Amino acid sequence: MLLAGAAALGAAGTAGLVVAGDGEEAARPPGPAPVPGPQARQAPLKSSAFRLQPLTGGGPPRSVPRRPRVRTEPIFRISERGRQMMLTFDDGPNPDYTPHILDTLAKHDVRAMFFLCGECVEANRHLVARMAEEGHVVGNHTWTHPLLTTLDRGEIKSEMERTSDIIEASYGERPQWFRAPYGAWNRAAFQLGAEMGMEPMAWTVDTTDWDTPGTDVIIERVESGAAPGVVVLSHDAGGDRSQTVEAIQEWLPYLLDSGYRLTVPSRRV
Ligand SMILES: [Zn+2]
Repeated sequence: MLLAGAAALGAAGTAGLVVAGDGEEAARPPGPAPVPGPQARQAPLKSSAFRLQPLTGGGPPRSVPRRPRVRTEPIFRISERGRQMMLTFDDGPNPDYTPHILDTLAKHDVRAMFFLCGECVEANRHLVARMAEEGHVVGNHTWTHPLLTTLDRGEIKSEMERTSDIIEASYGERPQWFRAPYGAWNRAAFQLGAEMGMEPMAWTVDTTDWDTPGTDVIIERVESGAAPGVVVLSHDAGGDRSQTVEAIQEWLPYLLDSGYRLTVPSRRV
């Protein structure tokens, strides 16, 4: 269930803040979830700062992991470089739908982001472990999916902190991304997210699968909204998501056949 404001926010997502997305670097090798490195910790101690290494690859050097600046709006798009797009799935994990989505992603060798609710993680830790094993990136979507703008700062902090804690325990790293339920951020959420080492990630195209509009409508929304830099929002929990599960089997191969490179964020903006 989403508020109308969330759709408006998604539709207005043209103020493109660019994230350096690079699937190769972000993809993690199969095997047990790695022990969190210094880059996975929030507010690293100065005494250990010398251990931090920039994540350098073939491209320009990446910034040393650090507490992100406090933003005043979330990130709506990723870089258009290489015709890349990003897939995001919210509100899970859910035992009825998430495994099917993971199967489809695996079939096409695609990595995605999952914005997880802590209370769902608690009941489905094995699915979060599977996400880690298969190279997906997870983000913090609060514990109980409240409208953050109705909570006080302490309540927001608790919602976000508990969720990062259980994600770390299940995934092997603390999340570096968060998404406010309903796309409803406020100043406290931006500040607290930055304090916890997370960047706020919104979306560009809302599949409206939360409204169960029909599989064909979902497919059409993704295919017509596809463009370099686009972040797609779908849901793998929060209601009957069988349409979402069916639709991705159609639109995912379409995006790949259209030459899009589906990516996940690099570790840090
Ligand atoms: Zn949500």
